[in-house]
Amino acid sequence: MKLLILPGDGIGPEITDATCAALGALDRRFGLGFDMVHRDIGLKAHADMGSTMPDAVMAEIAETEATILGPTDTYAYPPESEGGITPSKAVRTTFDLYGNIRPSRTRPGVPGMAKEMDLVVARENTEGFYADRNMFMGNAEFMPTPEVALAVRKITTHGSRRIAKVAFDLARTRRKKVTVVHKANVLKVTDGLFLREAKSMGEDYPDVEIEEVIIDAMAALLIRRPETFDVVLTTNMYGDILSDECAELSGGLGFGPSINAGDDHAIAQAAHGSAPDIAGQDIANPTALMLSATMLLKWIAARHGNNQLAAAAAHMENAVDHALGQPATQTKDIGGPLGTQAFGEAVALAIENLEE
Ligand code: NAD
Repeated sequence: MKLLILPGDGIGPEITDATCAALGALDRRFGLGFDMVHRDIGLKAHADMGSTMPDAVMAEIAETEATILGPTDTYAYPPESEGGITPSKAVRTTFDLYGNIRPSRTRPGVPGMAKEMDLVVARENTEGFYADRNMFMGNAEFMPTPEVALAVRKITTHGSRRIAKVAFDLARTRRKKVTVVHKANVLKVTDGLFLREAKSMGEDYPDVEIEEVIIDAMAALLIRRPETFDVVLTTNMYGDILSDECAELSGGLGFGPSINAGDDHAIAQAAHGSAPDIAGQDIANPTALMLSATMLLKWIAARHGNNQLAAAAAHMENAVDHALGQPATQTKDIGGPLGTQAFGEAVALAIENLEE
């Protein structure tokens, strides 16, 4: 099975190396036949090939079932006309990866702000306020005059319904509760449409409890009582922001995994960015990318009914928890002694030695 590894910028190469060390151990233990192929994207690809997301890489993603996308320093990219293509945008729009699934939970031994939390943010991933990708043609941010800047937000029935279905299906496998987060008290038309479609979808799931919370209150309630939320269904930008808050509550941004999933394709990607402030220092926490990889393996396993791959993914998640649970093998961001590479080796060792 081919794994396409795109290290990206900043801490990307370090956390993908650590993730690959764990995946290598998983391959040896479970005989999965992984073929890990690395390709440059981001600033290195731009320097070498003139594009931060080369066409050849996009073509390879299209043909590969398992892609692991590292974080990218999009803020530092040149304009699109000069080859600065945002990889997240490119993959989410090209492959219609409309669901960004971002789980956060408290983990044994990890000192998070939340005492108890186990929730998943189901974030719409293709429209909303993302002006660089929410239009068929052109850009939804523009300046009618040098003193006026406008951005157009897109919310559609189709986009709202399909992410709502993802959220309700997910809730059925969990604690059967969906919290729809919106600002329909002010954005009556756009968030109103999203809320209407979420509620309408909820009618098909009478076994799942549905509640609605306004985004500003949600930011506070996540801090006050995070344990009361199960699946959080929301639009693109609210989901981006709230999922960083959830990751932080669970221990830090290094603990926020995700997959971008559509009907036919999914890509693993940590929720955090390229962290240029700590790049190259071997102190980044690779947990988010490791857990993103396990989410992707589970997604592929479910599609093919591949029990061995599902068991392997669960084993890798246990190994990550095992390493995080021991003071001697914790990462530096939570006060432990291990750098990025050493933590990758600790997880690899746990994969080799832990019982299934
Ligand atoms: P960031 O998520 O990169 O970093 C925010 C803070 O969290 C920093 O202090 C960083 O050191 C810390 N942090 C992040 N990941 C960590 C990890 N794995 N271990 C330990 N600490 C970690 O956000 P930012 O600094 O606002 O953005 C940096 C760049 O990343 C920008 O160019 C931004 O556009 C880009 N970005 C990319 C993605 C992506 O590729 N999916 C997501 C968000 C931001």
